[in-house]
Amino acid sequence: MSNTYVIGFPRIGEQRELKFALEAYWAGKTDFSEVEKTASTLKTRHWQYQKDAGIDLISSNDFSLYDNMLDTAVLLGAIPQRFRGLEGEALYFGMARGTKDAVAMEMTKWFNTNYHYIVPELHPNDTYALNADKLIAEYKEAKAQGITTKINLIGPITFLGLSKRTDRGDTYELFGKILPLYEALLQQISTLDDHITVQIDEPIFVKDIEPKVLSLIKPCYETLCAVTDNVDIVVATYFEHATEAVKVLVHTPVWGIALDFLYGKKNFEVLDAIANSGKTLIAGVIDGRNIWKCDIDATVAQLEKIAKTVSKEKLIVSTSCSLLHTPFTLKYEEKLDSEIKNWLSYGVEKLDELSLVAKCFFGENLNAAEQAALEANRKANHSRRTSARIHDEAVQQRVANITKHQRDETYKTRIALQHELLGYKPLATTTIGSFPQTTEVRQARRDFKKGVIDEATYKEKMKAYIDECVACQERCGLEVLVHGEPERNDMVEYFGEQLKGYGFSQNGWVQSYGSRCVKPPFIYGDISRPKPMTVEWITYAQSKTEKVMKGMLTGPVTILNWSFVRDDLPRSEVSRQIAVAICDEVDDLQKAGIKIIQVDEAAFKEGYPLRSENIPEYERWAVRDFKLSVSSALPQTQIHTHMCYSEFNDIIRTIEAMDADVISIETARSGNELLKIFAEVGYKQEVGPGVYDIHSPRIPSVEEIVIQIHKLLEVLPKEQLWINPDCGLKTRKWEEVIPSLENMVKAVHIVREELGV
Ligand code: GLN
Ligand code: ZN
Repeated sequence: MSNTYVIGFPRIGEQRELKFALEAYWAGKTDFSEVEKTASTLKTRHWQYQKDAGIDLISSNDFSLYDNMLDTAVLLGAIPQRFRGLEGEALYFGMARGTKDAVAMEMTKWFNTNYHYIVPELHPNDTYALNADKLIAEYKEAKAQGITTKINLIGPITFLGLSKRTDRGDTYELFGKILPLYEALLQQISTLDDHITVQIDEPIFVKDIEPKVLSLIKPCYETLCAVTDNVDIVVATYFEHATEAVKVLVHTPVWGIALDFLYGKKNFEVLDAIANSGKTLIAGVIDGRNIWKCDIDATVAQLEKIAKTVSKEKLIVSTSCSLLHTPFTLKYEEKLDSEIKNWLSYGVEKLDELSLVAKCFFGENLNAAEQAALEANRKANHSRRTSARIHDEAVQQRVANITKHQRDETYKTRIALQHELLGYKPLATTTIGSFPQTTEVRQARRDFKKGVIDEATYKEKMKAYIDECVACQERCGLEVLVHGEPERNDMVEYFGEQLKGYGFSQNGWVQSYGSRCVKPPFIYGDISRPKPMTVEWITYAQSKTEKVMKGMLTGPVTILNWSFVRDDLPRSEVSRQIAVAICDEVDDLQKAGIKIIQVDEAAFKEGYPLRSENIPEYERWAVRDFKLSVSSALPQTQIHTHMCYSEFNDIIRTIEAMDADVISIETARSGNELLKIFAEVGYKQEVGPGVYDIHSPRIPSVEEIVIQIHKLLEVLPKEQLWINPDCGLKTRKWEEVIPSLENMVKAVHIVREELGV
């Protein structure tokens, strides 16, 4: 009997082998055959890991050289016009990364993960054609290794839901055109073996589901199930509940339904419907999105709860989602503190947990090693529940006893005081924080970390950079200056490294897109700030200028959203602890004479829940904690925030409620369109809409910035506007930054003249 199931496995390789193979090939240093060789080694290894762990249902076609959505577009022959004429790997990587004649396809976030997929482009006049070579080859590859896999596919409804139409039409109108391709595909798959399982991923079902989409489910799965009777279809969803879709799926002939019981608690409500339908339930109970060791006993208890409704014979134990979203293996974590390491579990370790959970749940006899593993798991969980490194009484007391939750004075009172003190003109110029991260700066940080240079030398180098950065801003004529952030490798990591309760892995890479990986820090315990984190740098920078130096911090919600977060405390509680630490930093900065402090919330919008039913709760604590993080600011201390996007229509009231004195946003690419919402709702606080795009090396001319400022002035009065670039400048070169900022300042002078300022 099959009773263990993995939704999908990471592919980048435990030492990021695929990344390095791809990048060498793209750089022209190797042939494509090298990439294929690496890919084949990795697939073989990954299948073997799963087999060794005793997983019954292992996937094929979860591997990809770049992205599974891109693979699906290629599978269906959905090739945008501009790439026609290319073939094979040139076509594939051309679509992903662009060619000299054709821009790359768009990329966007995969649900609420940090993975990014390629957005397929569809047009009603296109003709599509099936090409299942990759998928078939992979199935055969595994088979040759003695493993009969289930075949993973992205489902037609999700494929359409996540694609875009180049004529701006509704992608779901193309359902009738796409479905026959899936039928033909299942037909082909059915010839591969006597009996095959196909996992069709439909994560689109976990978002707020529109009636139009809901109405497609029945025809879709009735049609696909009718193709052949030697294929069992599993419809897989993850990241949230899919209750509406499940209620329809139970009336179709699909064989199984995979649900996430960790991030979609509401799935418990449809257990009855599943039990009545007699379908197999693939129960996602092993966390595919986090790095914590599972609690075997608690997980078995969850399964027992499910088994009260769905009989054990109809239950398969699974990961909550693909393990793509978790790092690979703990094997290479040599530097992690052993106590902390003992609380962790990455992809490979999760396979063993899954297997053990299933054995316990199905009442199989444990051998000595398994018995020992179970005992070890209990010990590790006990240590996590009790360790003083996790549970800090002082932090808990402090957070529980907070009395000041926000600034006391109204915006009106504050801004009047601030203008009096700071005396800036309308259209005040500033930047978002970082300046170019040069090779020398990166080298210095690395050398200091490795102990190659001592602290004094390191500080000297950073201060020299700050000197240069301040002088440059003065030469450009900017009005509110920044120190340039040379000491920061990353806006979250920098703070994480200084906060107690934060951990860093050596090899905890997670694929972000293509060959790119990120290594998020992790919050394991109660958060506190042993000492000031930024004061020395900012006050040093302030000492170098007569102008106002803006202090630069990362906000609590962003710190949380870009980390792996402990699962033994609600996210909102963790966020609150971070907010208290930031609040202390704000206070220290203002006591040291800093008059403007920016608290970046670049990832505020990223944290939004997938389901609108959960949005009010998220907004409640996210706003609460931003306000708490700046609650120490005196009325005359000006609080800025920055967000890296421009679409505020849905969340403008929430942004307003955050009550920052000034917000800078990204608007350069959309003219003034996206700023209009601020005027429409009568937004009172000051706004710094980016006047040029920092993502490209292009230097904007004075004229075009003047035009951009005029556009902004059509929407908001000059008194309410600040002028700044879209985002930080750290990815740019000095040669680009200097003339761009000079032009920005010149443009402001021209417009001020026109306005008689
Ligand atoms: N202050 C940060 C910087 O300028 C903000 C980065 C961001 O918004 N992503 O780099
Ligand atoms: Zn930004």
